[in-house]
Amino acid sequence: MSAPTQPILAAYDIHVAYGKTPALHGVSVEVAPGEIVALIGANGAGKSTMLRAISGLLPLSSGTITWNGNPVGGVAADRIVSSGIAHCPEERHIWPVMTVVENLALGAYLCRSRELVASRMELAFERFPRLRERRGQLAGTLSGGEQQMLAIARALMSEPRMLLLDEPSLGLSPRVAQEILDVIREINAHGVTVLLVEQNVHNALAVAERAYVFETGRVIAERSAASLLDDPQVLAAYLGG
Ligand code: ATP
Repeated sequence: MSAPTQPILAAYDIHVAYGKTPALHGVSVEVAPGEIVALIGANGAGKSTMLRAISGLLPLSSGTITWNGNPVGGVAADRIVSSGIAHCPEERHIWPVMTVVENLALGAYLCRSRELVASRMELAFERFPRLRERRGQLAGTLSGGEQQMLAIARALMSEPRMLLLDEPSLGLSPRVAQEILDVIREINAHGVTVLLVEQNVHNALAVAERAYVFETGRVIAERSAASLLDDPQVLAAYLGG
């Protein structure tokens, strides 16, 4: 099974190394416009590395990445952001001694129109009312869930067509993780394609239509979420229990 229509993102035979240590050994991933696709697999399998390669944070040793018909392998990260891909990293990277508003404004650093920044911020506050309540608060004093919301809201400040989300439910209570999953569905319903990395497979498959299973720097399976959920034994075999 592959992406159902012409992919908007196509990465083929991607090899990436950290220094001399290879981390991805020929990974291919396709995402169709409007999809939510998950990358799942054990710790250290290469999922985050794949997102970093797509967003230009890591150079490719070899392979090709095409975004919206254009080759983006080796393109600088800021140009990839302006081409419509936003990356929300696992570490969240919010600025703890800056306010919520200041953090959001940084997410729109490529946008030169103050009116546009203001309207995007208003949209962020409509989507995340809790961030509006805490707009003047230092980001480091927010709860874990609020920090994750801020990280997602900040990534959306560039008005991406595709969002790369790394472990959005990590460290959150089940209730707050559920809120984040609802937000991901809502963002997707507004036309943003989503590529999601999740250790929590059940959270991943609750929102994604398809998943790629990673193991030690390779994709070992690509299945619909429904087929993985219908077949817990297959899922356990892929993920080692
Ligand atoms: P996790 O959920 O733990 O992040 P992952 O599937 O996202 O797992 P990666 O973080 O992509 O896996 O790691 C893939 C491989 O690359 C691992 O062997 C890891 O140790 C290595 N690696 C990741 N980041 C770095 C780094 N900054 N420097 C060197 N090696 C790294």
